[in-house]
Amino acid sequence: MAGLIGLFAWSPWKDATQVEWLGTYRAWSDDIDASLQGGLVPLRTDCESTFDDDVGEPPQEQLQPVAAAARRGCAALSPVEWRNGKADVVRALIDAHDDLLPPRRHRDVSDIAGSSVGVRPDVYCWQSAGWAPFSEQFAIVRGGEEASLKGIADRARNRIDLDPGVCAALRRYLRRMRPTSLSYENFQIAEALTVLTHQAEHLKAPSASEAEVECFAVQHVRPLVRAAWGAEYATELALQAWELSYQQLPQAFRSSACRNGGRLDRNPRSSTWP
Ligand SMILES: [Zn+2]
Repeated sequence: MAGLIGLFAWSPWKDATQVEWLGTYRAWSDDIDASLQGGLVPLRTDCESTFDDDVGEPPQEQLQPVAAAARRGCAALSPVEWRNGKADVVRALIDAHDDLLPPRRHRDVSDIAGSSVGVRPDVYCWQSAGWAPFSEQFAIVRGGEEASLKGIADRARNRIDLDPGVCAALRRYLRRMRPTSLSYENFQIAEALTVLTHQAEHLKAPSASEAEVECFAVQHVRPLVRAAWGAEYATELALQAWELSYQQLPQAFRSSACRNGGRLDRNPRSSTWP
């Protein structure tokens, strides 16, 4: 019976109200952000009452933990605590979605993060039917803050959640299934390695900026591909990651220090880039 109620509550025609509610949460959260950035710390009671008035109860029970996490963020309003509170909201959103279609943990994908970045997170691969609604809602809650919505890192849980397409490409990489030349699958492997190592770099250096993390990620493509298929193909995919992924990012996610010999060059003595 509980399962039936769950499915009923998640039927697509209910989504509009979930999206609307998350939109009001985002607007409220942005207002608190703006206050804190302006050096004005709202009173807990004001924070809670604006939440109750402007956001209020979610349209469905599944989002209740998200609402609770958001309101809890009012309890200790320093910039650091507020940032932690926003991470709690994303965590609650992940949990709300992964209950229905549980993503699977992949240790071999975690090994890629281990060999390149040096962290060993739990990596979860989502199914399309679960990731699509989740990533849509994640975009509302945290849109514009992440270089790509194809992966998310949670430092408190040492966990990375990945888009199913990214996982499919990583599986081909792990099985050494090299795509035919000139196919889009080549870029997909380069992109998937960038998404995974980007999130792993977040876990390794929590205070690093998006631009720093993305610059390190794009430099992981070459050694990872070289280990699987040799130097020539590694150069090809590293250039694809650079030209088709990195250079297409908005300015905020790039850095002028991300260049051969720049401050973010992982191998400053080598003239190879990226
Ligand atoms: Zn990021």
